[in-house]
Formats: sequence, C-alpha cells, structure tokens
Amino acid sequence: MASSEHTCRKDGKPMYFVEETEKLSNGVYRVTFSYKCVVCGYRIVVEYATIKKAGEKIIVERRVLHYS
Ligand SMILES: [Zn+2]
Repeated sequence: MASSEHTCRKDGKPMYFVEETEKLSNGVYRVTFSYKCVVCGYRIVVEYATIKKAGEKIIVERRVLHYS
C-alpha cells in the first residue's frame, strides 16, 4: 500500500500508511486510516471507520474524507 504519490506537504518526505484502532468508552471501536510523514509526523487522515456490535451483528460505518 506504499505509494510515492503521498509526500509530506511540509518537507516532501514520503508518507506511510497507518491504521490505528482505538476503543471508545461506549464499546465502539474506531479505526483511523491515515498517511504519516516519516520525518515530522505530519498526518493526513483519509478515512474513519467505526465498528460496533448490535446483538449478533457487527455494524461497520465508514466515512471517507476528502482532501486535496
Ligand atoms: Zn514531514
């Protein structure tokens, strides 16, 4: 998934893809997909997903962010 088209706006260094999962207080998991600069840590979030259980079902909601 590494792509040379994603470079840092501040220093032009390559950015790597990051997937982070955090557990929210109400039992919902939130996954954040982003690109992060290898040098300065500048981050571009491209998508959020929330994962929650409803009985036997698992509901996934995805929200794609637009950036230029
Ligand atoms: Zn940078």
